[in-house]
Amino acid sequence: MEDCIFCKIANGTIGSNTVYEDEDFRAIMDIAPAAMGHVIILPKAHAANVFEIDEELYGKGMKLAKKLAAAVKQATGCEGINVLQNNGTAAGQTVFHLHIHIVPRYDEDTVNVKWKPMSPAAEELAAMCEKIRNEI
Ligand code: AMP
Ligand code: ZN
Repeated sequence: MEDCIFCKIANGTIGSNTVYEDEDFRAIMDIAPAAMGHVIILPKAHAANVFEIDEELYGKGMKLAKKLAAAVKQATGCEGINVLQNNGTAAGQTVFHLHIHIVPRYDEDTVNVKWKPMSPAAEELAAMCEKIRNEI
């Protein structure tokens, strides 16, 4: 993908603060962090989102997220961590090369990943459960 900034960063054409690199991934400091210590994991192969990425590679990325979450926790002394991965504009994705966020959290930080809980009727919930089950 010639015009993809994360392809260029992941493959080293554009420099970055790299915290980790292997043959499949580069993990870098987010340039506009939600909190200090915010790291993003970029696969070197371009895939826009969870629907496009190779399943094995996605699994490897999540395994790496676990390893880096532990490093971020140790380095920052944070109280919690969000591991996030946005897919699509509606989900907050702004760069359309899949990436995994590791966001350190502190009791009084300004990060907001909360939602207003819905109260669906039991039948509604069961109907959606069935619909999803049928798609697997
Ligand atoms: P998302 O909203 O999930 O697509 O996240 C995109 C993330 O990429 C944001 O947290 C940005 O701050 C970050 N970002 C965008 N451009 C760069 C860059 N050149 N280097 C590092 N992080 C970047
Ligand atoms: Zn890309």
